[in-house]
Amino acid sequence: MKNKEKERTERAAAILALLKKRYPEPETMLDHANPWELLVATVLAAQCTDARVNTITPKLFSFWPDPAALAGAAQEELEEVIRPTGFYHNKAKNLLGAARRVTEVFGGQVPRTIEELVTIPGVARKTANVVLWGGFGINEGLAVDTHVKRLSFRLGLTEHTDPVKIEKDLMRIFPREEWGDVNHRLVWFGRDVCDARKPDCDACELAPLCPRCGVKTESRKKAASEGR
Ligand code: SF4
Repeated sequence: MKNKEKERTERAAAILALLKKRYPEPETMLDHANPWELLVATVLAAQCTDARVNTITPKLFSFWPDPAALAGAAQEELEEVIRPTGFYHNKAKNLLGAARRVTEVFGGQVPRTIEELVTIPGVARKTANVVLWGGFGINEGLAVDTHVKRLSFRLGLTEHTDPVKIEKDLMRIFPREEWGDVNHRLVWFGRDVCDARKPDCDACELAPLCPRCGVKTESRKKAASEGR
C-alpha cells in the first residue's frame, strides 16, 4: 500500500472509531417500512429535508401503498401530494416511471443490485446505495451525498469532487461492512457539527484528525471548491 493511502486508511479508522462513539446506532432519518418506501422517500429527499419528506410520505403511501398502485396514479394528483418537497414535476415523473418499471420489469419488487437499480427512473448510484443498505442490508457501494462529499474533502479522505471518484476512494479506505453506516454517520456529523457554512471546529472531536480544521476562516472561493 502506498504511504499516502496507508495514512488515509489509518486516519479513516480513527475517524470511524470516534463517529461510532458519537453515533452507535446510525440509520437513515427517512421514515420507511420497506425498500420501495425508502426508494420513494430518497427520490423525494433530493433538494429537500428528510423531515419535510417524512411529513409527505404517509399521505403518499396511504393513497398509493405499493408500486402497482402508484403506477396507475395520475401525474397531476401525485404532483399535488409531493409539491412541498420541491421540484415536484420531475419527481412525480420519475416516481411514476419508477413505479411502472418496478411493477412491469421487476415483478413489483425493488431489485437488489446496483446494475438493476440504476435502470429505474430517478435512481442513480447514490440512491441505489441508500436503498441497498437501508432496504436490504447490502453494502455494494457507499452513497455520496452533499454531506459525505463535503466531509470527505475536509477530512482529507479524498482529493476528488466527482462523487463516483469520491466513492471509490472511500470504498478503498473503509471496510466494506462499514460502508452503509459510514454514510449515515458522515451525514449526521455533517448536520450536527461539520455544517457547510458554520463548521464547529472548536467543539469537533475529529479536529486532531482533520487537515482542514478551521475551515470556516477559509475564503468563499475555497469553500466553493468543496462543492458547497
Ligand atoms: S475540524 Fe472542522 S472542518 Fe474538520 S471535521 Fe471538524 S468541524 Fe469539520
